[in-house]
Amino acid sequence: MADPYVIEGRTGPWELVIGLEVHAQVISQSKLFSGAATVFGGEPNSQVSLVDAAMPGMLPVLNGECVAQAVRTGLALGAKINRWSRFDRKNYFYADLPQGYQISQYQHPVVGEGALEIETEEGARTTVGIERIHLEQDAGKSIHDLSPTSSYVDLNRSGVALMEIVSKPDMRSPAEAGAYVAALRAIVRAIGSCDGNMQEGSMRADVNVSVRKAGAPFGTRCEIKNVNSIRFIQQAIVAEATRQIAILEEGGSIAQETRLFDPDRGETRSLRSKEDAHDYRYFPEPDLLPLELSEDFIEACRASLPELPAARRARYEAELGLSPYLAGVLTADVDQSNWFEALLADSAKRQDKPAKDVAEKAANWMTGELFGALNRLGLEIGESPVSPAQGAELLALVADGTLSGPLAKQVFEIMLETREDPGAIAEARGLKQVSDTGALEAAIVEVMAANADKVADYRGGKDKLFGFFVGQVMKASGGKANPAVVNELLKKALG
Ligand code: ADP
Ligand code: MG
Repeated sequence: MADPYVIEGRTGPWELVIGLEVHAQVISQSKLFSGAATVFGGEPNSQVSLVDAAMPGMLPVLNGECVAQAVRTGLALGAKINRWSRFDRKNYFYADLPQGYQISQYQHPVVGEGALEIETEEGARTTVGIERIHLEQDAGKSIHDLSPTSSYVDLNRSGVALMEIVSKPDMRSPAEAGAYVAALRAIVRAIGSCDGNMQEGSMRADVNVSVRKAGAPFGTRCEIKNVNSIRFIQQAIVAEATRQIAILEEGGSIAQETRLFDPDRGETRSLRSKEDAHDYRYFPEPDLLPLELSEDFIEACRASLPELPAARRARYEAELGLSPYLAGVLTADVDQSNWFEALLADSAKRQDKPAKDVAEKAANWMTGELFGALNRLGLEIGESPVSPAQGAELLALVADGTLSGPLAKQVFEIMLETREDPGAIAEARGLKQVSDTGALEAAIVEVMAANADKVADYRGGKDKLFGFFVGQVMKASGGKANPAVVNELLKKALG
């Protein structure tokens, strides 16, 4: 086992205790309690029903699709689904909350305890407990930078369904917190319950951090609100733990409070303390009945789940013989694994081989060449200029000897630019590997005639010169000669 992660203080090592509350925006056509659309990027206030605007007398109607998404997420996390749950009113005043309260699930969430297996980048495995998942409505958005004197309010997001996925305080390092969020993101994306887009805010985390000496009980936690990238989550954890350690080592104590992370300064700062924390005056939402789920509904949710990332990874290792590393990379994101499977199916067909015989080459090419290029171009897999079919054609051209490794790289660069098929590119630009013995024999004769002295030296025992002749023939062919064929022909000619 790896050494536990600690931060060294003046008084020695400190351990970290971390729990995350992840807010994940539910994928659904319409909002949690209204029929208004949820798509991102609409004109401000163009997707607001009378319910979302909290007009007097409007009543919420629960969207079954949002409930199904929360239940599917719970099932994917192996969690207990509560057949009976309830919505509560969480009262607070804010300009972007026209109702004056948020409808949420407080004491009786729809999903109970579950667990998520995680693996850090260093390969350390551990299990993080899930405390619960509850459904709640999002608030609108205040915009403060459009005018020097006024704030604007956009209610498009008002009423959109969120799942709050609460972990147990089971993480002990920034690496584990990062792995947890990545694993959660992979799952919700795979089952289609959230798009996991942290930049657009469809997934964001409240990060709870405390510190303690080894073996001591948990310390007092602080909660860092609304952190929206894995890197920032990890930076915020270290900054907050370091702050707490300094206070404790001075003899002070930690006040439980809500803080914000400032990535530019790399520090957290206080937003509000426990004492002036809101008293939300929760009470059962009188406009909604408790939510009762039938066994059939839960079973239909279960039946709708696709293969989960962990199962997919295990299958890649067992059935395709991929290394744990490659299997892990390819199943880290559902769009990537779908792309890989399209590439694999087409490769197997073109090369007329079982998938497992072409899997490793396909996986290496995709994670090496393709990911490298996408990275360079700043593109997601869904925006790849090269399609899985074109990738499979390229791999088939290498497999049948039409293209050498270096020629394939050249052709690939042209594919990225022109989006043309590799076969057509190789044909039109004369990039095919020359395996034709006639043409190569002629080149060999020329090279030998031009280097008669070296031929004599070689025949006299200077074996090392063989490489020289291979190089000359390759050069004469413009780098297109098939090296295996050149080797064979040269041995005969010089022998
Ligand atoms: P609240 O609504 O007050 O934020 P929640 O129950 O929603 O409370 O969330 C509490 C979060 O804090 C959970 O993710 C939990 O794992 C985490 N947590 C609880 N105790 C500690 C602790 N001592 N150190 C770090 N995290 C903690
Ligand atoms: Mg909280």
